[in-house]
Amino acid sequence: MLTMIPQLLIDTVGIVAAFLLTFGLWRMSSPVTAPAGIKVAGVGMVAAVVASFLYSFSVGPAAAPHLPVNLALAVIALTVGIGLAWWSGRKVAMTAMPQMVALYNGMGGGAAGAIAAMELFGNHAHGMTQLSVTLLGAIIGAISLSGSLVAWAKLQGVLKKPLRIKGQQVINALVMIATLGVGLYIMYIVQSGEVPIMPMQGVIWLFFGCATLFGILMTLPIGGADMPVVISIYNAFTGLAVGLEGFVLQTPSLMIAGMLVGAAGILLTLLMARAMNRSVSNVLFTRFGDAARQTQGAIAGSLKPTAAGDAGIAMRYAGSVIIVPGYGLAAAQGQQKLYDFVKLLIAAGVKVRFAVHPVAGRMPGQMDVLLAEAGVPYDLIYQLEDINDDFASTDVVLVIGANDVVNPSARSEKTSPIFGMPILDADKAKQVYVVKRGEGKGYAGIVNPLFYADNCNMVYGDAQAVMTEMIEAVRGLGLPAAA
Ligand code: NDP
Repeated sequence: MLTMIPQLLIDTVGIVAAFLLTFGLWRMSSPVTAPAGIKVAGVGMVAAVVASFLYSFSVGPAAAPHLPVNLALAVIALTVGIGLAWWSGRKVAMTAMPQMVALYNGMGGGAAGAIAAMELFGNHAHGMTQLSVTLLGAIIGAISLSGSLVAWAKLQGVLKKPLRIKGQQVINALVMIATLGVGLYIMYIVQSGEVPIMPMQGVIWLFFGCATLFGILMTLPIGGADMPVVISIYNAFTGLAVGLEGFVLQTPSLMIAGMLVGAAGILLTLLMARAMNRSVSNVLFTRFGDAARQTQGAIAGSLKPTAAGDAGIAMRYAGSVIIVPGYGLAAAQGQQKLYDFVKLLIAAGVKVRFAVHPVAGRMPGQMDVLLAEAGVPYDLIYQLEDINDDFASTDVVLVIGANDVVNPSARSEKTSPIFGMPILDADKAKQVYVVKRGEGKGYAGIVNPLFYADNCNMVYGDAQAVMTEMIEAVRGLGLPAAA
């Protein structure tokens, strides 16, 4: 009975952890409930860690002598991990979030691979099902680890150019076949009991080496700009690998958490691909927009710069304004100033709303988080499908640090890399002001005809500095005390 109590306790705490993680994830589906969702999931993670420590009450006699050292190592690892995560989480800039997600994701894949390695090197995995699940989790975990690290290096600017060689896809296919071949050989040796052609440890190292190499080769040719989608795919891989290793260890909370991450990663990948009107295979195997960039023709019209103060005053006297934020706003950290400006407009009786495109910025939900950080009320923030019809009847649209998400060539130019991507119909408004630093292109690397249109003026400058000028200009007019 006594030995039953710890197992019952472990299972109960594990199930509580799984419930909290699921509930937390569900709460993260809306920006209103997301902060609470993250905290709930955090408590779930603490419960999962507690459950793993409870295993020390049920170790067998063979493992008991190693318990104090193992517990000490686990505590040291936890302390270092928590310390690093705390430090990096506080320090990381909003625009560097994709790199951080890539790094954390790679660690998840590595952890799943490490569990598989322990099972294989320790010869714990027996029987077809357990062995095949361990090997599958090992492959996916190792690919996710090396692929995520390459993705991190590209986003961080450590790897500057995509590395493409002739016959790349054939080489990748051969490495994958080799990985599967070595995996099948391990299964054969373990099942048949025959002596392997080289020491078993070497065979296992070869297996992990091939899987790791595949992750590197698969990610190297992909352009840095496609990395957020790639990270999302690896996120799904990591979840799957963790879920499979949870099955091997017979740990329900690990299985549930892994499958949740896997399913969420797959859904997110598909949503991102759909919002960009690209297939996942197009992201993985095609050079994004190379042909279109080479063939893009001349654009009619001219760029018409205007002063920030003039644009600000025009918005102060408008009846309705829609603001389209993009990557440049995050890069400039201009969200607080933008909201200060919006408060001035609202105090002056202008109807102001924010229009958020699903892939604005460099990460899904980045704009929602950015605006929430500045304190913008959620009822001012509209998603594409809820606001797109209103642009035509709007006096002024302020496009701030955005480019591709308002590029009208997505509607009509068949050769455009963003052809078919739903865009915000900013060009249909009576007047458009675009805030950007110069003639820099967006993520897709193409010219935006909106900037040359008759109803559009350019306000050149860093998004934060421009907002400061607009605030000063509007304040200079004199406003109601509420502002
Ligand atoms: P874009 O990348 O299209 O454009 C950003 C613009 O911001 C640039 O043209 C740049 O022009 C300007 N900019 C940069 N820094 C500043 C600054 N400090 N102040 C003012 N302006 C600045 O951004 P969007 O948000 O419009 O579009 C996102 C793109 O990213 C889409 O193509 C999308 O498909 C892609 N993407 C998004 C993902 C997501 O999950 N959100 C994932 C993967 C891809 P200039 O240099 O002249 O200042």
